[in-house]
Amino acid sequence: MTNCSEKTILHDNVTVGENGTLRFAGVDTAALADKYGTPLYLMDADLIRTRCRLYQSEMKAAFGGASRPLFAGKAFCTKAIYRIMAECGMSVDLVSPGELYTAKAAGFPMERAFFHGNNKTDADISLALDSGVGCFVCDSREELLALDKIAGERAVRQPVLLRVTPGIDPHTFAAVTTGKVDSKFGSPIATGAALELAELALSLSHVELTGFHCHIGSQIFDVQPYVDAADVMFGFIKSVKDATGFVAGTLNLGGGFGVRYTESDPAFDYAAAIRSLADAVKAAAKKHGLPMPTVLLEPGRSIVADAGMTLYTVGTVKEIPGFRTYVSVDGGMPDNPRYALYRSVYTVVNATHADRAPDRAVTVAGRCCESGDLIAEGARVATPVRGDLLAVLVTGAYNYSMASNYNRIPRPPVVFLSNGKDELAVRRESYEDLVRNDL
Ligand SMILES: *Cc1c(COP(=O)(O)O)cnc(C)c1O
Repeated sequence: MTNCSEKTILHDNVTVGENGTLRFAGVDTAALADKYGTPLYLMDADLIRTRCRLYQSEMKAAFGGASRPLFAGKAFCTKAIYRIMAECGMSVDLVSPGELYTAKAAGFPMERAFFHGNNKTDADISLALDSGVGCFVCDSREELLALDKIAGERAVRQPVLLRVTPGIDPHTFAAVTTGKVDSKFGSPIATGAALELAELALSLSHVELTGFHCHIGSQIFDVQPYVDAADVMFGFIKSVKDATGFVAGTLNLGGGFGVRYTESDPAFDYAAAIRSLADAVKAAAKKHGLPMPTVLLEPGRSIVADAGMTLYTVGTVKEIPGFRTYVSVDGGMPDNPRYALYRSVYTVVNATHADRAPDRAVTVAGRCCESGDLIAEGARVATPVRGDLLAVLVTGAYNYSMASNYNRIPRPPVVFLSNGKDELAVRRESYEDLVRNDL
């Protein structure tokens, strides 16, 4: 197990063993690579449980009542994680029928599930209703009308939240900003569309409006955008009350708390952020003369990102004098598309020689037929040679869940680590798996 006197790299669950190899969650990565092969995703299940409990206890203490976190499953979606969420008493956020199916297959209690999505088909709506999903997060007029009809056929009244856009720009990367007025998600408060949608929801007999939702973005290190969003949301709740008499009982402020990927990212104090957000929410409720609602947050990244690591084996090391050194690994953009998509920066460690100081800036490349197939550029590592293990840290969020089979590369297995023990959670894909649906 991790012990305070050990040297850690970036996060407490990343340490250096006596033999110089990298350890993750107290387990030797070289031994895991031997047992499972590479590329390999590792998940620190103990950290996941700790984060869930931190969000649960801090939110209960700060907001009171039934306020709680929902794990945003899109960050990392497998049966194993939904079993952990069920065991921890978490609620979850699902954004597609496939995520819904996965949670259900894991035995997750669907009354604790919230169903998102900006374009739910009639089939999605039917599946969610038949699965007993606790709450829909409705995005549009079309969805409300379809839900009312399909719920009516089943003679049920489905609780919903309405997703609205508060017009807050948290100044993160544009592709992960979602709370602005110009967005494919939700209805803008500023144009009056959100109020119209609330009026529509209140007029439908098979839809039970319970409150409102917003999600302003991701990888946000500052609590201020949430405070601003909460203020706008309370102003909106007040205007809905004035127009219709409906007082929202639930306010869902979405996900997006930041995670430390590199030494230059700040360490984020989730407990402190929750406390200052609660202070702001209470002040906003008071200012608008509204009762304190049940507050929901939807952390995804901040529950699983630093609980993850990817292990690769180094193949070709190509030094191009005057340019750079390419270190090619046995994975790449199919298992981690985030550099290709967002230029996301990662910390890379030579896991075979984790005791050596980083002495080389390298470009970590994958093995796809694509020059953009890179994991990192300018990453400082102890000079790697063919056969060394390379670890990419903080890959627990939006890696496995975004993985593809580009170039018909099988997806790596996922191994969960808990109490110093390893357990296979997702098998390595076989070539047979790759052609399974080919006729
Ligand atoms: C992506 C998303 C989340 C999770 O965001 P993180 O940055 O991973 O915390 C939560 N809610 C909604 C609606 C999302 O789209």
